[in-house]
Formats: sequence, structure tokens, C-alpha cells
Amino acid sequence: MATRKSTPRATTAKSAKRTAQPQKGAAKSTKPRQRPIAVRTEDREVIQRYKRKYDRRVRKDTDWATFLKGGLLLGLAALGVDYFLGQVRQNNGATAVRCGHCDHVFPAALPVGQPGNTVQIQCPQCRNMLIVPT
Ligand SMILES: [Zn+2]
Repeated sequence: MATRKSTPRATTAKSAKRTAQPQKGAAKSTKPRQRPIAVRTEDREVIQRYKRKYDRRVRKDTDWATFLKGGLLLGLAALGVDYFLGQVRQNNGATAVRCGHCDHVFPAALPVGQPGNTVQIQCPQCRNMLIVPT
């Protein structure tokens, strides 16, 4: 039974024009359905616990994408996959970054007062990409 009526939703001007025509066969969509990623209950509890700690550290409710991306980038950097870890340093009163690959220290304008933030920056000496927790 295809009795479900289409519900109004926010559309861009372009897509509104496209969907203005009467839809036929709306019930059989070829779009793949979103599927949840299977996560074991124990793992979900661990991840949620870390997100709560992360949110306390950054003092705000982050969305899951921000949390997971930050954690993923830091994890990749810790493993040396595509990134290296950089460390914030104070160099003669100025903010600097120490490259986790070649130890080079270079000045960098980093967002201050935003704990939990991660910044991607390239080392000017070895050219590796660094993930810097600020
Ligand atoms: Zn370097």
C-alpha cells in the first residue's frame, strides 16, 4: 500500500523545483537506506563514557562527528598513520608547535582557550601533517 503522503521538508530552491512535479512511484525509492553501524553494547558504553569525558574537557556538548573525528585523527597520529602528533609549546612568549616527527619547533597561531580542540598543521621542515591537541 502506497498511501503514505510525502511530508514537507526543507529543500533548496534547486531541489524544490525538481520535486514540484507530482511524484509517482514514491514508495519504491532506489536510494540506499541508512543502516546503523553494528556496535556491541559494551563498546557503545565505552564510547559514550569517553564522549562524556571529552565533552567535560571541552566544556560543551559536542556532536558525535566532532568527537569521533577528533578522536580518530589523534589515534591516527599516535599510530603515525598519515599524521604525526604535534605539541603546543611556548617559545619566548609566543605559541609554537613541536613536530612529533622531526622535533622542529615553529611558531603557529593556534586557537587559544579552546581545550580539546585539535588543529591540523603542516611541519615547515619535514612537511608531515601534524595533529595538535590545543
Ligand atoms: Zn617535522
